[in-house]
Amino acid sequence: MPDGLTFTFHGVRGSVAIDRPDSARYGGATISISARLADDHYLVLDAGTGLRDLQHHLPEEGSLRFSFLVTHFHWDHLLGLPFFRPLYQPSASFDFYATAAEGGTVESGIAGVMEPPLFPLPLRSVLSALSFVDVPADPWEIGPVTVRAAHLHHPQGVNAYRIDFGESSLVLATDVEAGEPESDRALIALARGADVLIHDAQYLPTEIETYKGWGHSTWEEAVEIAEAAGVERLVIISHDPERTDDGVDELEAAARKRFPNTDAAFAGMQLTLPGR
Ligand SMILES: [Zn+2]
Repeated sequence: MPDGLTFTFHGVRGSVAIDRPDSARYGGATISISARLADDHYLVLDAGTGLRDLQHHLPEEGSLRFSFLVTHFHWDHLLGLPFFRPLYQPSASFDFYATAAEGGTVESGIAGVMEPPLFPLPLRSVLSALSFVDVPADPWEIGPVTVRAAHLHHPQGVNAYRIDFGESSLVLATDVEAGEPESDRALIALARGADVLIHDAQYLPTEIETYKGWGHSTWEEAVEIAEAAGVERLVIISHDPERTDDGVDELEAAARKRFPNTDAAFAGMQLTLPGR
């Protein structure tokens, strides 16, 4: 067991990538988070446009393996993949874990983002080795971590993932709309006692009436899930594309009043799970 497992946030924005000076501190790239499991093996949570940043931090030599946990197939969670250079390297291999959408497969869900004429090269033409795995009901192992999933409330559905590393644990629950009892219960059970819960907080409580059914949560709902699950630390993510840095600061401050150990995720943020 390595000493610790460090997760790097490459993108934290919800819905669509943005590029505005007043939002540069948190960053405009959409969600992608990575952790290096071994010298040649990376775990990647979602493949939003932030994924491109990872390619600047990879070793230059040797064959690399990437295990992707894909929350769902919406564009903002996959659009980095066609622009990720290792995808075109014969020495690289990719395992994609996801839950197939109704009437589709994991492969068709991932490949949809690269279908001509939307993109010149279809996924099946790339040179790297690809495998597609339907997320199992039981926990499974990827290198030194154990992963389990819960299927939650979002248009077309979304998976939250819990990653256990030794005695410590991290949960990613983005693009979940709180307030649907079965989904809330499943997430609380998944996140029970976790060290870190990364939770969607795209909206303010004052905005949510306008955005009911859009598939996202407020900071208040994120705090309620964190409290109910008894997590140590809350990291809020999926910042609204219209939210400026000052706006995210205010949202974070409001959440901290209720749940002090809260941070708003930003591009470049790192957090380490101890290997205890
Ligand atoms: Zn979505």
